[in-house]
Amino acid sequence: MAERGIDLGRRGFLKGLLPSQPFVIRPPWSLEETIASACTGCGACIGACPQAIIRLDARQRPEIEFSSSECTFCGACAEACPEPVFDRARPAFQHVALIEDACFAARGVVCQSCGDACPEMAIRFRPRLGGPALPELAVDRCTGCGACIAACPATAIATRPRAAEAAHA
Ligand code: SF4
Ligand code: SF4
Ligand code: SF4
Repeated sequence: MAERGIDLGRRGFLKGLLPSQPFVIRPPWSLEETIASACTGCGACIGACPQAIIRLDARQRPEIEFSSSECTFCGACAEACPEPVFDRARPAFQHVALIEDACFAARGVVCQSCGDACPEMAIRFRPRLGGPALPELAVDRCTGCGACIAACPATAIATRPRAAEAAHA
């Protein structure tokens, strides 16, 4: 399982086979469907988040922005919400990280910031001849927390839906 995840990350990174598609990331344990059906846009989750990574989108609904910090899965957003938007029984996030071609290491500059930041040790660096070691993502370890996104000095890490793995396997 781990090997499969690493292979997928390497394929996507090296060959661009898994382009990221911009999509809205909702707060953990919420779904697009529950946001649409139950969220009133009250902003309680925004005020509760100690990481300050939740903001309102153009439709006044909460979305996650990982550019400055990561989700620690503290649960404060879910606890603060007065509506049936969150369900802690479901997986927190539906996405995984995606390392794209803007990566410094891919361009010959030594960098391992994402690997250092990842609390799950989901990003490993494989030595190679003729250049800096390249990051490889073990998809099965990735929680989608966003720590690597905030840490990347090249803004080279995006996200993609976890379900997309099957389509590219
Ligand atoms: S779980 Fe905690 S850190 Fe993550 S979005 Fe909710 S309040 Fe913020
Ligand atoms: S932090 Fe960004 S630039 Fe550095 S190795 Fe990771 S993906 Fe590449
Ligand atoms: S999103 Fe979190 S768990 Fe996944 S690779 Fe990045 S830092 Fe690691």
